[in-house]
Amino acid sequence: MDIQGYSKAFDAFILEMEKVREPVPEKLYGIFEEVCGYLSIGRIEMLYFDNNELSGGNGHLVLYQIPEAAKNCGYENDHVSDSGTMFTFRIYSSREDIVWTEEVLEKIKVFETVLYTFHGRLHLRKYVEKSMLYDRELGVPNMRVLFKDLTNYKEIGIADSYEIGFINLSKFTIVNQCVGRELGTKVMALYIHTLQDKIADNGKVYRVGGDNFIVLFKDELFSEICNYLVRTEVIYEDETQSSVIVKANMGVYDIQDNNFNIDVAIEKAHIALQSARKSTEKSYVIFDKFLQEMSEKENIIERIFNDAIENEEFMVYYQPKVQLSNYEIAGAEALCRWKHEGKLIPPNDFIPVLEQGNSICILDFYMLDHVCRDIRRWLDEGYKVVKVSVNMSRRHMGDHKLLEKILSIIDSHNVPHSYIEIELTETTTDVGFYDLQQIVFGLHENGIHTSVDDFGVGYSSLNLIRQVPWDVIKIDKSFLPEVFDRNSSQYILFGHLLSMFKALGLKCIVEGVETIEQVKMLKENNCYMAQGYYFDRPLPVDEFEKRICN
Ligand code: C2E
Ligand code: CA
Ligand code: CA
Repeated sequence: MDIQGYSKAFDAFILEMEKVREPVPEKLYGIFEEVCGYLSIGRIEMLYFDNNELSGGNGHLVLYQIPEAAKNCGYENDHVSDSGTMFTFRIYSSREDIVWTEEVLEKIKVFETVLYTFHGRLHLRKYVEKSMLYDRELGVPNMRVLFKDLTNYKEIGIADSYEIGFINLSKFTIVNQCVGRELGTKVMALYIHTLQDKIADNGKVYRVGGDNFIVLFKDELFSEICNYLVRTEVIYEDETQSSVIVKANMGVYDIQDNNFNIDVAIEKAHIALQSARKSTEKSYVIFDKFLQEMSEKENIIERIFNDAIENEEFMVYYQPKVQLSNYEIAGAEALCRWKHEGKLIPPNDFIPVLEQGNSICILDFYMLDHVCRDIRRWLDEGYKVVKVSVNMSRRHMGDHKLLEKILSIIDSHNVPHSYIEIELTETTTDVGFYDLQQIVFGLHENGIHTSVDDFGVGYSSLNLIRQVPWDVIKIDKSFLPEVFDRNSSQYILFGHLLSMFKALGLKCIVEGVETIEQVKMLKENNCYMAQGYYFDRPLPVDEFEKRICN
């Protein structure tokens, strides 16, 4: 063998390979020709195997081939790269009757190692490039691709035919709990890839993170996508036909103008999503002027909330609860009022905003603290103190220290537990229900009463109520019969409800009582307590004190 000639050819081969970005056989042929001539190589095959879609999956490439090449492989070697891809190189001699000498075989081994080094690196580079643009778990493009696509659509002037949908899968933690995390990911992947198939070339699905996605789609696909999101059965085990139902919410921003700002548009779709998540009847919401105003208001409230707590701008109003047998005040509900820059802001204007985040929890503890402070003072000053109920938002569920925090506030004021009642609303999810059960049991054990707030609104379930040691049911005014007619179905139903609760050992209080007719109805059905404007509005502390002085 002409060693010098071979060395030169080998160096040239290395220099050329350095420039290769894609292993395209036609381009490689010229690079390989000379070295392969020296080494009597007639065919090179590369097989690669990878179960990670990102690195390009599996493949079989013929990198070099001359017509007379031997049919049987003369040298074969396997490698595993750092990114986990398996490579096999098969090298064939240039003619059936050629047998490589030891010297040539040694050189072929070196040559093969170099080939692997290059291809392993090419693969790795491709993998890194792709993983920067694709979500690893599901193999869908990420937000970088979304920005790239939108910028491109803006430039070529077609963005205005698209809509941006911000999607959140509903209660996907429950799916994960039912089928396990691994299958949960499979369900998510199937769900998202099916959505992508539906959209085909008219848009794309991108992963934002977790169970949040963005879908970019042409206007005409709107109703098809909404239908898919409302409810879709995902079959995740073909053999057993096991399936789960996946539902999702979507906030939509309709791009109207090619000059739009991408960040702002995504933020608007997100605002619409939040509103969709809160809505019980609609799974999607389109961003509009009304949402814009709402979100501006929310921003202001969030900004000034912490200072307002610090400056004690929140005040406790007490609405008396009246015992119907003797019309005496037998309790009160603490309701929050915000006095900001001389104006009194009602809770419906700020509680829903605070409930978006965890600020509501800060406010609830603030209220409990102030109520305990008042009770302590009333006890010390000899008032006829009644049990006061304090509202705790659903947002507290999941806080494993909730019971501890409530007890520590009450105890720090040295208030007997029997003076406090905690009002909670029912939950609809299993996870939330478990937390609720835990907290009610804990309060019960510590002698603190609990009540179900707003019974009759939303998803009240008698079945769930029986599984928790509640003390009081607060029936919402919407359950009250509209007219006093003993034969009306509303009246009969209402009567049954009250007697059923009584049988379960629960006390009932009806809220929102405004008329004498309503009071009569309650008394006829042996209702224990009532709360409402007929008796009193929520009162500022000094006025309430006048009602409980001896
Ligand atoms: P809620 O807990 O159901 O409180 C009862 C609401 O009904 C109060 O509204 C009360 O003023 C009103 N109300 C009482 N009697 C009548 C009546 O005869 N007719 C009518 N139409 N309404 C009556 P408010 O004070 O505006 O509070 C609204 C909601 O804000 C509360 O509903 C509660 O969900 C929330 N909220 C108020 N304070 C707090 C708080 O400190 N923490 C939490 N988490 N939520 C609170
Ligand atoms: Ca309440
Ligand atoms: Ca209520």
